[in-house]
Amino acid sequence: MNNIPAKKSLGQNFLKDEIILQKIANSISVKQNDLILEIGPGKGALTKYLIQKGSNYLAYEIDSRMKPVLASLTDKILWKDFLKSDLKNDLEQITYDNFYVIANIPYYITTPIIEHVIQSDILISEMVLLVQKEVADRFCAKPHTKDYGYFTVYLNYYFEVFKEFEVSRKCFDPVPNVDSCVVHFKRKKSISLDQKLYFSFLKQCFCNKRKTLHNNLKSYDWNLIQSILKKYDISLSVRAEELPSYILEDLFLCLYKN
Ligand code: SAM
Repeated sequence: MNNIPAKKSLGQNFLKDEIILQKIANSISVKQNDLILEIGPGKGALTKYLIQKGSNYLAYEIDSRMKPVLASLTDKILWKDFLKSDLKNDLEQITYDNFYVIANIPYYITTPIIEHVIQSDILISEMVLLVQKEVADRFCAKPHTKDYGYFTVYLNYYFEVFKEFEVSRKCFDPVPNVDSCVVHFKRKKSISLDQKLYFSFLKQCFCNKRKTLHNNLKSYDWNLIQSILKKYDISLSVRAEELPSYILEDLFLCLYKN
């Protein structure tokens, strides 16, 4: 039953190292009334440890070939594409205190999955995601580095983002071409910005990384932008990648307050 061949098109690299799987499951502490959402349980390698935690559990899996394998562990699987799901609606029937997301997600849809979770308007307490090592570097990047971009700022607005540990490619079957890293996201504050608007604003700030903020934000009120930059004693020819997230957040609030 477990000999189901991996589908490359679904990003299937199954984690086979039991120590790593336990470490991932142990990186969150949940209570009975909490809810764990797993995206892409696959053959249930991580699922079995998550279920042992005794809280509410729900998963999305796109590949129905996994039905017989997962049926022995849980019936709490929604057999659909997570990216097309209405998460808020799917969770409506479940009563829970805190919401946790945990997953070994397909690398090629890492960013869309995170965006989809955040933009579902559900208050996330913590997320633990196994992602490609280079992607983890981007998520945790500091200003003035090549890895620092709009998605770094976006994530760091909502979460304290940190690396838990690295995972060698040898821990997967089939072996991928890259190493991985477990990244932990802990909520900093409740959502108070229009997320979609903030997301597109950040994209605009970083749209041409070599250009100044002024050039990237040509369609915005330059007088307002200048006043914020002056407040922080920052050069008017600054580039977005040189700005820490709290200044970009302040800029956004100032430009969109009316
Ligand atoms: N969690 C398992 C593990 O650690 O061995 C499987 C991880 S594998 C990298 C990713 C899983 O996500 C696969 O089972 C795949 O079928 C599933 N998947 C891929 N795209 C998906 C989507 N859009 N929605 C839900 N599941 C998806």
